[in-house]
Amino acid sequence: MEHSATYVIVGGGIAGVSCAEGLSFLHPDKTIILITASPLIKAVKNVVPLSKHLVQFDVEECAPEKLSEKHSSVTVWHDTVAELDSKNHLLHTTSGKTVSYKKLCICTGGRAKLIAENHPHVVSIRDTQSVKDFQSCVKNARRIVIVGNGGIATELSYELEGIEIIWVVKDEHITAAFVDPGAAEFFKAKLEGSKETEGPSQRICKRMRFTEAEKAKANAAGAALGPDWHANLNLRGLLAASKTVSVKYGCEVKEILNADEGKARSGDTDTWPVYLLLTNGDTVGCDLVVSATGVIPNSALFARGNDDLNLAPDGGITVDEFMQSSLPDVYAAGDVCAAGWPLAKHWFQMRLWTQARQMGMYAAKCMVASLRNEPILQDFCFEMFTHVTKFFGYKVVLLGLHNAQGLGSNCELLLRATMGVEYIKCVMQDGKMQGAVLIGETDLEEMCENLILDQLDLSDFGEALLDPNVDVEDYFD
Ligand code: FAD
Repeated sequence: MEHSATYVIVGGGIAGVSCAEGLSFLHPDKTIILITASPLIKAVKNVVPLSKHLVQFDVEECAPEKLSEKHSSVTVWHDTVAELDSKNHLLHTTSGKTVSYKKLCICTGGRAKLIAENHPHVVSIRDTQSVKDFQSCVKNARRIVIVGNGGIATELSYELEGIEIIWVVKDEHITAAFVDPGAAEFFKAKLEGSKETEGPSQRICKRMRFTEAEKAKANAAGAALGPDWHANLNLRGLLAASKTVSVKYGCEVKEILNADEGKARSGDTDTWPVYLLLTNGDTVGCDLVVSATGVIPNSALFARGNDDLNLAPDGGITVDEFMQSSLPDVYAAGDVCAAGWPLAKHWFQMRLWTQARQMGMYAAKCMVASLRNEPILQDFCFEMFTHVTKFFGYKVVLLGLHNAQGLGSNCELLLRATMGVEYIKCVMQDGKMQGAVLIGETDLEEMCENLILDQLDLSDFGEALLDPNVDVEDYFD
């Protein structure tokens, strides 16, 4: 059966849903079909601006009908796209439906990059089903190896209890995907011991309460989880003691060994179901390996038969400053896309919720403007990188070139840290602020954001910029 809609979106994650909402607001009289392989969709709510650029929000997993009830022009299909025929502007689904579109937005996210596919002792965490699988494995585990140095690895090392953790990171410090070695030292104090003994003020919750949805089907290509995916989960292993964490710095997994081979190499008296040979020569045994080494964009399906679709080296669909791919009338947003425009000095892509939402909303604007033949300016959210999250129970705000990305050695760092309370780092170049890391309740996000955007010369302040007795905001007022 052939259907048609002005706008078609593939994907029911944050990017796809934000795009659908944007389209229905901007072009309410046009038909919008959202096709999603996951039975539940992700919607953003309780949006709280913390500054001009920095936004905090909750994410709700909800039934697709909720979206159609709120936006009558949106129809949601629970189906999987099998083929894109971009020449004829058609999409075919696995259930045998065909839909023609005027404008298409691909928001199919990514899937976890695994150190070994289909290995019984190697798991990843991406969607509802993978969390269920992980939870059932962890409760029978004494020792786990976490491989990766991003958000998921960081959260797991803090959230797991009753288990021995070996954390394998390729960098020389933890959480390197987000922070510098100084901030990593600040976090390290929280690695050992039990988070269960922390007071309520320290057990800060992030934004999303993850609920195991009854409707979630095994093997459906689910939307990625996000903040607080672990909030209602029992992530406790077999050990009575709280946990121990040992970090293996500067190494990666070279090979996965079976029990016999691994035991012989490791010299361990215990026998473990799986062993990892690391690039530093160590062999470590464990019950379970979590592979948390990033995502691979779900783009291959759209490249098949569409040779003109440009993909970036990381597999993302390359998009220009109007979120348009190299195929006519085909846009992409969220984890599946790769920003292919000349980037603003203080912005870079990172596959995060914030950017999935910004890109989805902005893609909607671009699609509408293109259909109406109207000019459009790029959204100001792409001027500066902003991210707010929680690591080890602390609020973490990252602004601009917070890790001095691309600045080389020609920059200077201003630091203020009080162990257990706050860690503030400003990245300065030629007296101007280029980025900032704010950990704890610093209340400095707005000031730092303005200073990065305005590029004011702060040379006169020198180190006094972070002196708690100097109110920089007053000075500028
Ligand atoms: P997704 O949410 O992955 O959605 C993709 C959608 O496409 C799904 O609905 C899927 O069913 C659908 N789909 C895929 N293929 C097809 C097909 N062929 N046909 C139809 N539908 C299809 N980000 C943060 O900012 N902060 C965090 O703290 C954070 N924590 C995270 C923790 C975990 C465990 C994970 C996995 C991710 C985390 N992220 C976090 C990243 C964040 O979740 C993603 O960047 C974001 O969800 C990407 O949104 P998206 O809409 O692009 O893709």
